[in-house]
Amino acid sequence: MNVVLTGFRGTGKTESGRLLARLLDVPFYDTDALVEEEAGATVHEIFEQEGEEGFRAREKRAIAGLPRGPGVFATGGGAVIDPENVEHLRRGRTVVLLNADESTIEKRIQHSTRPALTRMGLRAEIHALMESRRDVYLAAADYCIDTSARSANEVAIGIKRLLAEGVTKESGRREALRAFAGSGIHQSEAAELATMVKALSENPVLRFYGIAGYPSLHSRSPPLFRRLFSYFDINAYYTRFHDPALTRILGTARDLDVRGLSVTIPFKQEIMGHLDRMDAHCRAIGACNTVLFCGGEAHGYNTDWLGIRDPLASLRGSRAVVLGAGGAAAAAAYALRALEMEVTLLNRTVERAEALAERFGCHHGSLRDFGSIRPDVVVNATPVGMESDTASPLKKSDLAPGMTVFDLVYTPPETPLIRIARSAGCTAITGKEMFIRQARAQFRQFTGIDAPLEMIREFLG
Ligand code: NAP
Repeated sequence: MNVVLTGFRGTGKTESGRLLARLLDVPFYDTDALVEEEAGATVHEIFEQEGEEGFRAREKRAIAGLPRGPGVFATGGGAVIDPENVEHLRRGRTVVLLNADESTIEKRIQHSTRPALTRMGLRAEIHALMESRRDVYLAAADYCIDTSARSANEVAIGIKRLLAEGVTKESGRREALRAFAGSGIHQSEAAELATMVKALSENPVLRFYGIAGYPSLHSRSPPLFRRLFSYFDINAYYTRFHDPALTRILGTARDLDVRGLSVTIPFKQEIMGHLDRMDAHCRAIGACNTVLFCGGEAHGYNTDWLGIRDPLASLRGSRAVVLGAGGAAAAAAYALRALEMEVTLLNRTVERAEALAERFGCHHGSLRDFGSIRPDVVVNATPVGMESDTASPLKKSDLAPGMTVFDLVYTPPETPLIRIARSAGCTAITGKEMFIRQARAQFRQFTGIDAPLEMIREFLG
């Protein structure tokens, strides 16, 4: 038994952790106590003498040095903000996030001698820190438990039961396997999934993730995420939900107590109606491609736009054209505007470009207007050039040396537009680059761990 308890101060990590360790008959480690022991000073004194930075450096060393054997490990409230800490904590362990409502936390910590992290006053500080940390807490956890109305003893007993039995029911697992078997996914994948589901009887805290799309049979996310989970020693399996009905996918996800979904065509808008919370990027773009389930709630994120922004980050302030006015074009417009680019959206149906331009503060026009703009950056967000289409949305004479051409289409690896751009002396960025960057951001959202870009590139092959 190897379990980490994280969460905000006052959620009961230390008390429940100590009781849980006793119930499981394993040692208990509290990272704050380890830091105090090593420093020969209290957390309060370390904060006063070395500031928060000094404390975090000590905490990081303590986490990296935690014993690998069985135990219950309670971390300080800010520990999981650092992805390297999360990587150390998660390897071979189950992470349980303890939550509580703000007034319960205030009651529990109001007499604490621990230093405040801000000058805001207790209630305001609790609110601000919980808001700013919620997503990293969620990312770093396998399970979320609300401790507001429970004693530390009840929480410890609940976690012991969770570790022994998991959350899924035999009937739900059977139902999920039936749905997968009839979904059209490859037989070998269905067989592997069946093995993993059956393994829940010995490994009840195995977590499931998957891609939800239709079609999703050719998605490269399953092999990529499986390798990432295995590399970071995370007890998780990533599968494929291939079904035309999102509600059926969500039913199967509930049956398997799925922890996270990558969401793709045609569900990126529809999924938004099934979320309890979504980030500001989803709301602005109008699409969600990443869902995390925790404690009975669904949280939505958008990482697509990061896949477009990051490869273009050095071109801040440039003049850009986006071809298309669909979902990918919305993510592109949002990403380019975040880089303070002057953006013109050109589309076959001009009215759609106009509507999108209005949302993001861009210019708009028809595809014929391209010649009059002379942009530094071009992003193709139409499917033109996608396997088996051999057309290009632009001619070589439209392009000039020094332009950066980013084709979001990723099959084939070298599209006609990419070929033309290279021969015209442009910097060409392929759709694979977007996939790699958004997947990296998605893995971070799924786990709290920063996988190096080169690792994703290598694992993707
Ligand atoms: P979408 O919502 O269906 O939008 C497609 C857009 O392309 C529309 O603006 C449409 O114009 C335009 N279009 C379609 N066929 C065209 C043609 N023959 N000539 C000119 N314009 C045409 O699709 P989407 O979700 O935005 O995806 C667009 C492409 O982005 C996909 O095909 C995919 O290859 C790529 N993508 C890549 C990644 C990645 O990770 N690399 C992720 C997402 C998407 P109208 O408005 O006139 O119909």
